[in-house]
This record gives sequence, structure tokens and C-alpha cells, in this order.
Amino acid sequence: MDCVFCKIINHEIPSNIVAENEYAIAFEDLDPVAPVHVLVVPKMHIGSIMELDDSNLKYVQEVHKLIQEVAKIKNVDKSGFRVITNYGEDGGQTVPHLHYHVIGGKRLGPKIIHD
Ligand code: 5GP
Ligand code: ZN
Repeated sequence: MDCVFCKIINHEIPSNIVAENEYAIAFEDLDPVAPVHVLVVPKMHIGSIMELDDSNLKYVQEVHKLIQEVAKIKNVDKSGFRVITNYGEDGGQTVPHLHYHVIGGKRLGPKIIHD
């Protein structure tokens, strides 16, 4: 499949992996918007949040567990962080494989969506 995140999952293209489990992988965003900017991605090609259903709920569960782990590894578990998933044209999704931005390491404004 011609999907950049599937290629990262399969180690076909390099990434800086922060953590992973059987169902999800976390790696550094190529173009970080904050001191901490990690992408947490299910290890199955799910196109977006709109493709989640009862058949792939396990991935949602494991993605959230990995987000907690990333927060601890990046030392923002106490200071706080933001989790964002973009969907569709207005949401600004550019990679069509479900992913969650974990952003932190600085004080984020209340209305800031992405950075
Ligand atoms: P979206 O706009 O779809 O929510 O976010 C896509 C994110 O993936 C962007 O923040 C972008 O910097 C990141 N990204 C795109 N291609 C790559 C890549 O090849 N490697 C890594 N590590 N991040 C990528
Ligand atoms: Zn994919």
C-alpha cells in the first residue's frame, strides 16, 4: 500500500521511534510544532477517525495506552499535553492513515488547534 505511515510501520522508510506495542507505534513528527510532537499511529491501515468501528476498537484502546507511555517517556505526563487527530479537508488531514498528534513541552494557547 502506498501509504507513508504503513511504510514507517513496516520499516520501509526511517523514523525516530519513541515507543511501540503490538497494535500501535509512536514516532517523532518530521516537522514538529512544539518541543514534544509525536505521532501515535495504529499498526493497521485505518484511514481516519471516521473508519473506526467495533471491529477495530482494540487499536483505539492500544493507541491510548501508547499515548500514556509516550507522555511518560517525553516527561509531559505531569506538565500536560494535547492530543489531536485531523480529519478531512477542513480538518487538515494530509496523511490518510489515522494518527494522533501528541503535542506538548510548552504552554499551548486555549484556542490553538495544531501549534
Ligand atoms: P496531518 O496533517 O495529516 O494531521 O498530519 C500529518 C503529519 O505527519 C504532519 O505533522 C507531518 O509533519 C507528518 N509527516 C508527514 N510525513 C512524514 C514522514 O515521512 N515521517 C514523519 N515522521 N512524519 C511525517
Ligand atoms: Zn497506512
